[in-house]
Amino acid sequence: MSGRDKSAVIFADVVRRNPGESEFHQAVLEVLESIIPALDKHPEYTEAKIIERICEPERQIIFRVPWEDDRGEVHINRGFRVEFNSALGPYKGGLRFHPSVNLGIVKFLGFEQTFKNGLTGMPIGGGKGGSDFDPKGRSDREIMRFCQSFMNELYRHIGEYTDVPAGDIGVGGREIGYLFGQYKRITNRYESGVLTGKGLGYGGAQVRREATGYGAVFFADEVLRTSGDRLDGKRVLVSGSGNVAIYAAEKAQQLGAVVIGCSDSSGYIRDDKGLDLELLKEIKELRRVRIDEYVRARPHAAFVPGSPIWEVPCDVAIPCATQNEISATDAANLVEGGCRLVVEGANMPTTPEALRVFEGAGVRFAPGKAANAGGVAASALEMQQNASRDSWSFGYSEERLQEIMKEIHASCHTTAEEYGMPGNYVAGANIAGFRRVAEAMLALGLI
Ligand code: NDP
Repeated sequence: MSGRDKSAVIFADVVRRNPGESEFHQAVLEVLESIIPALDKHPEYTEAKIIERICEPERQIIFRVPWEDDRGEVHINRGFRVEFNSALGPYKGGLRFHPSVNLGIVKFLGFEQTFKNGLTGMPIGGGKGGSDFDPKGRSDREIMRFCQSFMNELYRHIGEYTDVPAGDIGVGGREIGYLFGQYKRITNRYESGVLTGKGLGYGGAQVRREATGYGAVFFADEVLRTSGDRLDGKRVLVSGSGNVAIYAAEKAQQLGAVVIGCSDSSGYIRDDKGLDLELLKEIKELRRVRIDEYVRARPHAAFVPGSPIWEVPCDVAIPCATQNEISATDAANLVEGGCRLVVEGANMPTTPEALRVFEGAGVRFAPGKAANAGGVAASALEMQQNASRDSWSFGYSEERLQEIMKEIHASCHTTAEEYGMPGNYVAGANIAGFRRVAEAMLALGLI
């Protein structure tokens, strides 16, 4: 059977065995379609049923999370941890707290994470977790009680050699602190390497907070350099205004770009003079309020409620909010507005239809699996520092991050060329990540 036929059969089986999990199906299909040349070249993967095994998580944990709000009312949420693949190292991947979280979303994220972690070249497997808990509007005490209850179950499944969670949407430094505190209390172990994204005062690493956003921009710069271009002077749009978005905007500005807009789930702001990042950080990191606050302090800027940011003309788009946030219509608007490069800071923000629009228009495209891998790479560096009881400077950590992003870019670029698809970063990232995981799985036997 050819690689293409084999992929089709496996995909049909994944859909049958995982009904209703549309995001998981989407992520699997994208990978299966692009690794066909690798399957044709390496029949040993098919013989050992590597792909069937890769599509089935090693373990899926679903649990009840009861907690009490400030008025004494009891709430019940659902917690998830999907331990996808540990061929390369302990499961590694973030926790997401958002009302949209369900098993299919956690599985799509864990599946993507497995290849992304392979691509970093670091000893980390893939996993992901979270809850349908909505942190918006909750007090600090409520967030703490939720995190403690979540950890009351999660603690028995994680450990520095087993599974090492980190942050994702709705889980930042504050939440990691509460989660780590409860883990320490239950286990009576100061096991720094059990969680990453910790605060700098208790085992966290420099540049972890900035790493995903900075890494995406380093990747963008590498893509541009392959055609002798630079980020300097480019008009950049960033969606979202969370951890990834803020630090993508910061690094883009440092490299000379003008970041003219960002968003949250209420709408977007446009500031043609370039975003005031200190103001944005105050609004989003300290006060944790809606993005329209920005225009109160910068009256020349505009707030546009309820519309996608992609209607604003730009040169480079860096989606940093959530999955499937760029539709085919958004993609057509971006192309018409002059966008020549899309770099995914978020996980799978581009729909398959939008990707086809970009391909048709010759827009260069860097998938999240490669472009946002700086976050998990910095987490692996945090684990390294925890294991050796060491802490590195900001400058050294940023240098390491930049080197890693250059290597990931080179690996995607050369793999795409090797398989006859030059410039196709989706194929390059999927094949390079897949091959690393597949080789380790072959070496470890049927497990
Ligand atoms: P944050 O929670 O810090 O920020 C998320 C941002 O996206 C917020 O501005 C939020 O707006 C917006 N957003 C989230 N969901 C939606 C939605 N359904 N519709 C519209 N806007 C939405 O998360 P992160 O910055 O950490 O994560 C952003 C993306 O990057 C995710 O795809 C995540 O998986 C990915 N990622 C994150 C990494 C990390 O290190 N943090 C690593 C690799 C990837 P609002 O506040 O209004 O909801």
